[in-house]
Amino acid sequence: SADFDVVIVGGGSGGIGVAASLLKRDSSLSIAIIEPSESHYYQPAWTLVGGGAYDSADTERTTASVIPKGVQWLQAAASRFIPDCNRVALADGREVSYQQLVVCPGLELHWAGIEGLEETLGANGVTSNYRFDLAPYTWELVQELKGGTAIFSQPSMPIKCAGAPQKAMYLSCDHWLKQGRLANIKVEFCNAGAVLFGVATFVPPLMQYVERYGIDLAFNHQLVKVDGPAKTAWFDVTGADGEVTRVEKRFDILHAVPPQRSPDVVRNSPLANAAGWCEVDQHTLQSQRFANVFSLGDACSAPNAKTMAAVRKQIVIVAENLLALRAGKPLSTLYDGYGACPLTVEKGKVVMAEFGFGGKLLPTFPLDPAVPRRSQWFLKATILPMVYWNLMLKGHEWLARPSK
Ligand code: FAD
Repeated sequence: SADFDVVIVGGGSGGIGVAASLLKRDSSLSIAIIEPSESHYYQPAWTLVGGGAYDSADTERTTASVIPKGVQWLQAAASRFIPDCNRVALADGREVSYQQLVVCPGLELHWAGIEGLEETLGANGVTSNYRFDLAPYTWELVQELKGGTAIFSQPSMPIKCAGAPQKAMYLSCDHWLKQGRLANIKVEFCNAGAVLFGVATFVPPLMQYVERYGIDLAFNHQLVKVDGPAKTAWFDVTGADGEVTRVEKRFDILHAVPPQRSPDVVRNSPLANAAGWCEVDQHTLQSQRFANVFSLGDACSAPNAKTMAAVRKQIVIVAENLLALRAGKPLSTLYDGYGACPLTVEKGKVVMAEFGFGGKLLPTFPLDPAVPRRSQWFLKATILPMVYWNLMLKGHEWLARPSK
């Protein structure tokens, strides 16, 4: 016998959503969510906070308020997976057992992977929309800057919301352009990768904005070190011959995005694949080694864009397949890799990049996806946060059914 029918590790977007969706289908299930944090965040709006278009307080709620009724919240971090025994150990010494396990602790922002960054975040013009407490500082810096150099960095893939580093840049440039200051500001996008965006369809509309704002693109530039007080950053630049050279750049503003990886607890467990992510079949989201384990969200190995939009679809896949397994039926709800990245190219306009495995375009609405639209901004800034809090976290699956 087990403590719980289902144990869910992580009470973020995926964990709360799955718990609610499971209970909607079978209210008799005993479910526990292991989640250490007092707060639950709507992270996609942090880009808007950094652009002065959203109140940061509206992106935070208490975890207590989003845990579905009837679910037991175990407020601690999971410290070890013991899948052979169907058990999870908690950092506070407790251990729980399960019949089915759902793994969704998100990913780890590896701030310490950039020397000197943590010490100076929130001061000396160094910021990041990847942290709740720093997104408002981005907007402060953007408003204050009259001239100089603004650098926006992007680490190597995979990262959550791959478009977020450049979204911060476009919204900043839009403000400087409207204020008549952009001519005095040198803007550089220092990207560890070799392309502006991973799906080719969306590169031309983004390039139009790169040109409009006069942005210098620096590919194969990986941020490795920051000296805040000296306002200097160092990049490892990989040349065409594969040779790496270290380049120094001065900045007035640095929007830094940290390297990202699977959380230790997953990476060092029997659930991980070679890259550290919780290994699952990309269509059923079931573990390939432990049949009673499922995973979704940023921590899972499926090669989709790590986004909330993906989680919205994955919740249904996991809920249906987990219940099929319990009922002894085949796992027949399949994930197509859907993810979405609303690219905020200017305040009031979004290029809505929606795609599945292999970069296959999967637009929700029958519109040319490469066109920047006001309607998509409205969707991103107004509709999707409402969908999140009122539907997705409550087991209502609007816009979440898998495409057939
Ligand atoms: P999370 O929502 O991050 O939740 C993980 C939870 O697990 C957290 O509550 C954490 O406290 C908990 N946890 C961690 N370790 C443990 C442990 N050991 N034990 C138990 N619990 C643990 N997505 C979009 O679709 N569109 C966007 O425009 C967009 N923009 C973004 C902009 C920014 C700046 C950021 C940071 C993200 C953005 N995203 C966007 C991505 C989106 O927020 C994530 O993909 C999504 O939240 C992933 O859900 P998750 O449940 O996997 O992880």
